[in-house]
Amino acid sequence: MMRIDQLLAHATQIDSPTAQLDAELLLAHVLDKPRSYLLAWPEKTLSEAQAAAFMALLERRQRGEPVAYLLGQQGFWTLDLQVAEHTLIPRADTELLVEAALQLADASSPLRVLDLGTGTGAIALALASERPQWAVTGVDRIESAVALAQSNQQQLQLSNVQFLSSHWFSALIGQRYDLILSNPPYIADTDPHLQQGDLRFEPLSALVSGADGLDDLRLIIAQAPAYLSAKGWLMLEHGFDQASAVRALLQQAGFIEVNSQRDLGGHERISFGCLPS
Ligand code: GLN
Repeated sequence: MMRIDQLLAHATQIDSPTAQLDAELLLAHVLDKPRSYLLAWPEKTLSEAQAAAFMALLERRQRGEPVAYLLGQQGFWTLDLQVAEHTLIPRADTELLVEAALQLADASSPLRVLDLGTGTGAIALALASERPQWAVTGVDRIESAVALAQSNQQQLQLSNVQFLSSHWFSALIGQRYDLILSNPPYIADTDPHLQQGDLRFEPLSALVSGADGLDDLRLIIAQAPAYLSAKGWLMLEHGFDQASAVRALLQQAGFIEVNSQRDLGGHERISFGCLPS
């Protein structure tokens, strides 16, 4: 029989700056209890099966698998989202895109909003939860991502959002939106970061976009005006060193009021612009 504190001592096996936290999250998950339970009951013993389940997760974490995939969930904005190997794990940086969008219009304006490459549905669901008057559509090229986003929607019981399968705008011909957002893939395909940390386990289709990482951003920016209403906004997440390139692309495509905002790390992480009236 193993006690909670004895099992948590195995955290030192994990090669991660957050090893202790990671181990606590995994053990709390196995016990289906909040993390505070572990600290309150360090002497409680686990069943053989529980201890074995924890050690198996610990070993996978030791091999580098992201905690979010091991738990099957990740917090984003105010929401708990299910995640899976075929989608990007939602990042705190992307909440910046949500904040910027919420500043565009007050709660009473009934905007039509599109999230391109929605993955878990994170951006679309966060906006739908904050703005019941908005009609939000999230699209993804990967069918299993669409199914996951729909499952998140059902769990959160949000009725003002729909998810469908579309490669960027391919299934949206003739539609117009007041706001289009995207956190597209934007990493250069030779970037060494792809061999580090969580990125090693996330789908390349959600991360990588050509030699300079800008292929999908170029495509989205070029096509977006045909799907935006007059004065409609396009808001994009991009790499820490891509802001000036993205602003130039927005200006070339006819966007005005083009600007960028910094993330928590101080890097220009999102850029946006709107169409003239
Ligand atoms: N921000 C992520 C990272 O660098 C990449 C996400 C993306 O390509 N959209 O870890």
